[in-house]
Formats: sequence, structure tokens, C-alpha cells
Amino acid sequence: MEYVDSLLDLIGNTPLVRLSDEVLGTSGKGPVVLAKVEYLNPGGSVKDRIASRMIEAAEESGELQPGGTIVEPTSGNTGVGLAMVAQQKGYKCVFVCPDKVSEDKRNVLKAYGAEVVVCPTAVPPEHPDSYYNVSDKLASQPGAWKPDQYSNPHNPRSHYEETGPEIWRQTDGKITHFVTGMGTGGTISGVGKYLKEQNPDVKVVGADPAGSVYSGGTGRPYLVEGVGEDFWPDTYDRNVADRVIEVSDADSFAYTRRLAREQALLVGGSSGMAAFAAAQLARELDGTPEGENAVIVVLLPDSGRGYLTKVFNDDWLATYGFATGAPTTSRTVGEV
Ligand code: PMP
Repeated sequence: MEYVDSLLDLIGNTPLVRLSDEVLGTSGKGPVVLAKVEYLNPGGSVKDRIASRMIEAAEESGELQPGGTIVEPTSGNTGVGLAMVAQQKGYKCVFVCPDKVSEDKRNVLKAYGAEVVVCPTAVPPEHPDSYYNVSDKLASQPGAWKPDQYSNPHNPRSHYEETGPEIWRQTDGKITHFVTGMGTGGTISGVGKYLKEQNPDVKVVGADPAGSVYSGGTGRPYLVEGVGEDFWPDTYDRNVADRVIEVSDADSFAYTRRLAREQALLVGGSSGMAAFAAAQLARELDGTPEGENAVIVVLLPDSGRGYLTKVFNDDWLATYGFATGAPTTSRTVGEV
């Protein structure tokens, strides 16, 4: 019989999938671009890795006791990872999120048995009902523990200990460039440090939404979710990136749609952004001596399933003036 005892045993060891020269716009003689498909983690994103590592570390340090409660102000992928691990390990989970977070996202967390506390967006930070005050209050109760993915060293460490070694092993040490988006910066910091320790010539390239501080922006808003920041998190190692490629929302979304249409990779907007940057890099290297042996690995953090009403909705894209590429099509039965 072939089985695992827990879903948690399936975290990590995600595959690399080669992107075609057509989707990259390369000659075929140039770099190989390999996508690390993180939506194949059991919770559906790269964040399963940090959730399990942060929880294990808190168990070891005693910060999280049996029957304890995990409190985190998140509604995204980290929440799903934490909710999944908490369910398997018997912890309670409370997520605090602003009221602008979609009901679908809240329902995913609730489906795993987590509790969701919704706070009004329209109150100042010092108000007792604000997102900040409510999560602080919940986290200070007995038995509560707040992972805080933006400052927890086990976030980058999980990538240093697992994601980085996986990529090194999977490429037989032939990787020359690693490309990834940056939110907390945990992925780029952990993977980048590990790869550079194996081979100092490996180039670490960040992809960043135009407007975010990582690419020199002021933190002005952009629409791609999960990446870019308006502050510098503790989990981001400022010395690790050799280069940051700025990508517009329009390019990120158009490329996200192409990955689904041309590679059958249904991924989120931050994946489209990272892959767009990887394709740009591949085209730059194409035809150069360096490009001949280049192996570019690009990390795709999550699935497109969470964005069906946004990136994959033609009307939503049109509202912001973005091209849909080939529009999605449907017919009602009467028209057939
Ligand atoms: N993409 C998505 C969809 C994410 O949720 C995140 C995490 N915020 C990232 C990319 C960036 O990963 P990291 O936090 O490790 O920088």
C-alpha cells in the first residue's frame, strides 16, 4: 500500500516544469527556464512550507503548547497553510482580517475549522475594533501564539532548509539564476542564501510590482496580490538579490493568462509576474555565451483558482483597462 499518514507529509518536493520557447519568446538555443509549481502543495501554495516550519519551531520553543491557539492577521495563503497544519495538529486557529477581504477567502479558512474575525476597515488604527488592536488583543490571551510571518526567522529558514536544497538537487547543481516575487521576502532570502552558498555565481533575481519598495517604489498601490510591500520586512535579506525586475500589473496579468492558455499552468498573478520577469531574463541571455548553459528556475507561488473573479475574469480586467489576450468564451445552451 502506498500512502502517507498525514497531509503534512506531502508539503514540499514540488516539481519543476519546463516553460516552452514559444511562451518565453526564446530561440531554443538559449536558457532553459524551469517553473517550480508550488500550487501542488497540499494547501495549494508555497506558504504551506513556512506554516509547518513556524509551527514546529514554536512547539520546540514552548511558545505553542498543546491545545493552544494560533492567531495571525492574514486571510491569504499563509492562513490556509496555518489552518491546515493546525487542524492536523489539534490547535485552534483565529484569523483576523479586514472587511474588504472576500467572503470566498474567509470561507476557505472556515472550511478547515478556523475562526475568522472580521474588522471594519473604516476605523483608525487606534480604534479598539481596528485590525491591529483586535489581533494584538487576541494574541495576548493565554495559550495564544502569533507566528508573524513578517518577522519570524523560521519563514526564510524553511526556504533555506527545504526549498533551496530541493532546487539545487532537482537541477543537479546546474541552476544559474533563481527568480521569485517578494512579499515577506522569505522565499528569496532563504532560497537565495542557500543557492549562493552552494555556488556564489548563482544570480538571485527578484520580480516586483511597479510601485513596491523592493523595486524602488513608494509603496503606491498595484493590483497583483501577495507580492510587493510598502515597508521593509525583517524577513527580507537586503543583501541577497543581485537584481530586481519591475513588472507592471498589465504585464503580470497578461502573462498569467498566457501561462494558463499556453502551458496549462493555472496560476495566480504573482506567478505570472515572476514568470514574466524570468522570460525577460531568458530573452536577454538568449544568444549570449552565458545564455547557452543558463538554467533559470522561477518559483510560482500559488494557483489561479483563487483569482477566478479577478485575473481570469475578462470584465474585471477590462474595468482596469487591461488586455485579456484571447478572451474566455462561453455559450448558453439555447445558442448551440
Ligand atoms: N505570491 C503570493 C500569492 C503570496 O501569497 C506570497 C506571500 N505573501 C508571495 C508570492 C511572496 O512570498 P514571500 O512572502 O516568501 O516573499
